Amino acid sequence: MKRIYLDYAATTPTHPEVMKAMLPYFNESFGNPSSIHSYGQEAKDATERARSKVAALIGAKSEEIVFTGSGTEADNFAIKGVALSRQTKGNHIIISSIEHHAVLETCKFLGKQGFSITYLPVDGYGMVDPNDVKKAITKKTILISIMHANNECGTIEPVGEIGNIAREAEIYFHTDAVQTTGHIPIHVNKSNIDLISMSAHKLCGPKGVGALYIRKGTRISSFMHGGNQERGRRASTENVPGIVGFGRAAEIAQEEMLEEAQKLTVLRDWLIEGILGGIEYTQLNGHPVKRLPNNVNVSINYVEGESILLNLDLDGICASTGSACSSEDLEPSCPGGDGAAAFTGA
Ligand code: PLP
Repeated sequence: MKRIYLDYAATTPTHPEVMKAMLPYFNESFGNPSSIHSYGQEAKDATERARSKVAALIGAKSEEIVFTGSGTEADNFAIKGVALSRQTKGNHIIISSIEHHAVLETCKFLGKQGFSITYLPVDGYGMVDPNDVKKAITKKTILISIMHANNECGTIEPVGEIGNIAREAEIYFHTDAVQTTGHIPIHVNKSNIDLISMSAHKLCGPKGVGALYIRKGTRISSFMHGGNQERGRRASTENVPGIVGFGRAAEIAQEEMLEEAQKLTVLRDWLIEGILGGIEYTQLNGHPVKRLPNNVNVSINYVEGESILLNLDLDGICASTGSACSSEDLEPSCPGGDGAAAFTGA
């Protein structure tokens, strides 16, 4: 049976070009980038080339990119790092109530350490109102963290407006762009963003490698302690093949993103129309227009999402009811009703 994979929000297949780029760094150029000899320097050069490709994708400078072990680690680094470095200034953090667990759980942890967290509500489309962000700011606010697009309902948040508000109030702005980097444009200066979390496996790169963009001058404490790798910002020997793969994936995404997004938007809307027009008791979750080009999320009333998924799987269609990291949770997670099913492709 031919299988159809519609779960790109969970992870993507690694692009053949990415695999080709990675291979030599397992056994030919296997050096440690911190070593002085030629093997080390080869690995270091490859890491730096990848850094500049990831930076180019978001309009950043190479030295503002720190490679991490995942998007989750980038989120933890951004939030805990700012919280620790700014705690003498204040203890208040603003996030949305629909952030990924990597942000929600990090803030829950910080809440237990004495930080105060405001969870902003979203509208029926899963959209944060920038006015709510403005109203939530206090003298003690040290960080605003609002995701670029939601991983389940696909709604694209108004990060440009939120970035302006944060900049005016002189508060750091972090966005979790794990679902958007390489899929839709994001620019650190156009949107006044100070910190961006990214993850290679969502843009046809390998799993287990992410990055945090840190605007030059941002005060942030290191999160991993040990060696002096990543200019002292993240100790641990670099995952060179993974980083090279991330760089190649970023390069391909930059070349193909706009065309790909146009193509996917047509397919997305065709699927939405087909489901809503052809199946009773269905409704679209998330914003009808301001949504990721590769995201369809629908509710089907009176049926449990899990049973739809199992039946789709029997027919060779792989979709999801929500975030892969909460797949055992039967509660619908998006603004929407019973039986929500998400189809994300690229
Ligand atoms: N943030 C968002 C919005 C995500 O969708 C994900 C993964 O699904 C993550 C963070 C975590 O990324 P990683 O799987 O690289 O830890």
